[in-house]
This record gives sequence, structure tokens and C-alpha cells, in this order.
Amino acid sequence: MRAAVFKGAGVLALEDVPEPAVDADDDVIIEVEACGICGSDLQILNVPPGHPADPGVILGHEFIGRVTALGSSAGAGALEVGQRVVVDPDPKCGMCGPCRAGRPASCENIRALGVFQHGALAPLIKAPAEFTFPLSEAPAAAIASLIEPLACVVNSVNKANPRPGESAIIFGAGAIGCLFLAMFKAAGAGPVIVVEPQAPRAAVARSVGADIVVTPDELDAARRSLLPHGADVIVDAVGSQLGTAIEHAALGGRIALFGMNQTARPAVQQYTITERSLSVLGTYITAFTFPTAIRLVEGGTLPLEPIVTHVLPLERVGEGLDLLRSGSATKVVITPGAAPAS
Ligand SMILES: [Zn+2]
Ligand SMILES: [Zn+2]
Repeated sequence: MRAAVFKGAGVLALEDVPEPAVDADDDVIIEVEACGICGSDLQILNVPPGHPADPGVILGHEFIGRVTALGSSAGAGALEVGQRVVVDPDPKCGMCGPCRAGRPASCENIRALGVFQHGALAPLIKAPAEFTFPLSEAPAAAIASLIEPLACVVNSVNKANPRPGESAIIFGAGAIGCLFLAMFKAAGAGPVIVVEPQAPRAAVARSVGADIVVTPDELDAARRSLLPHGADVIVDAVGSQLGTAIEHAALGGRIALFGMNQTARPAVQQYTITERSLSVLGTYITAFTFPTAIRLVEGGTLPLEPIVTHVLPLERVGEGLDLLRSGSATKVVITPGAAPAS
């Protein structure tokens, strides 16, 4: 089968590789319907890389598909051949200290699919049954591929706890920023100011429900006129905006940190955190939030359609990466089973 393989040093190559087969009792083979390209995939492909990955793996971890084969014990009756499914690509061991303390995101033995094991930028993928969830036929495949990033966002939103009538600022209107925006509006928060320099992404944020979208240069004036006392909740979906977030937070405000940038060293005025009684909340991947994210997508609760700006066959994955790097795409979704356009 054709697959997008990480070759190391910033190279993603389309290659013919063997199809996965059931080896272990809990293996599930899934025909991939749709697989989103994530910001972390771009980080893996940066030189030097901003995110680790094993050369030789097939990338792609935000995917849904259909079961084509099952190991003897896989699914315990909940999964069957033909079943539509979504997979948590970060299998936890259940045995390490953090797992046993109820902090699965900190599991010491995660070998993420699409990072350290083969991912879903291919027509078929092998996944562990324990982390494979049934999915209804209702949502369109490209929209349903947002379940994995949404499950991560739900984890952070649960901590930030936006409430009806609370004001918010979201830094970054990539797919993650837009998922936060959709969740905040669903929670009744407002006004929500989105900060985004790229015009195409700003337009998507408006479609998803942003009350106002500003460039970083416009933020100061907009925030002072709209929210003179600061924002109740601030989200950094960029990974470097903590210093700015502190400047714009209201008394008692919460700052949710989501974007990840290993090299960022923002200047922070610690005094303001103390004096304004701010809470700074980090979250990483998911924490039992797949069922919620699946329900949100199956129920059509959130305006997700504008977020998927491009759906491309596997042969055009390189073009998808370029669209994301330039900021002209919000979410690029690959359909590995589709024939390349002639
Ligand atoms: Zn992702
Ligand atoms: Zn563990």
C-alpha cells in the first residue's frame, strides 16, 4: 500500500509499504477514511525537529476509519468488522505511576501512533482495540477526523472552565484555536476575541463564531475598548504567548496553555500573576475526553465545517503541508483511500 513515511531530517516520502496484519489478540486493522495533518506533524518535519518521531514510521494520528480485521480478543464484543471507529493515538500502559494515579496523559510508556508506531497517512493502520472507539455513521469523515484534536481541546477547556458571559481571548486561529473558540461559544462565553495574523485563518475564526478577530498589533486597542478590565479566560494555542496573556488577563483570570513550542522563552511578569490572582493551566493530550469529543462531533453540536479547509488525497500530502506552513489552510485532511485526482 502507498504510505507517507517519515524519513528523518524533514523528509516525508510517499512509498509502497507492506499492509498491516493482525499479530496480537487485541489488534484492530482499520481502513482509514480520513486523517488530519496536525501541527505536531509539521514540528516533526521541521529541521531541526520541534517534536520527536522515529524515522521509518508512517505519520498521521488524527484519523477515523472502518474495521477490516480483528484479533481474537479485540473489542470484547464492542467492535466488529465493518464498524466505523476513531482511535486514541496515544495508548497508555495502565501500569506506570502516572497511569495508576489517574493522569494518563503523563503515562511513561506512550508510543504514539503516527509518531513512534505506524500512523494513518496510509489506506490501512493497525491500532490497539483498547483505544479504539465505535463511531456513528452520522458525521462526515473529514469532520470526524477532528475528534482527536477536539478530545485534547476538551481536556484543556475542562480545566479552564469557561462559563456563560465570561470574556475570552484566544491566541492563534489554527484548527486548535478554532476548536477552543467553538467550545467557548457553546459554553456561552463572550465576547471572544481571537488573535490571528493570517487573513484566511481569521476568516475561518469568524465563521466559527469569533466576536472579533484581530492581528497581534491590533490586540491592545481592541482589548482596551472591549474588555477594559481584561479577559476572564485566555487560551494560548500558539505556545509562546504566556507573557502577553498575563498582560490581558482580568483579575482572577485563567490562562490555558495548549500550544507547544520547546524553544519559546517568553518574558513573564510574575508579579502580575500574584497580584491579579491568575491561574496558569497547562494540559497535554487527552484525559478520558474521547467519549465527550465523539459525542460532540456525532451530535453536530459545534460548527466544525469551516475548520476543515482542505481535503486532499494521499498523493497531495506535500501540498497539504505547504498550505499549513503558509497559514493559508486551517485544517488539511487527507483521504488515503481516495484515488489521486488525474
Ligand atoms: Zn494532533
Ligand atoms: Zn502508563
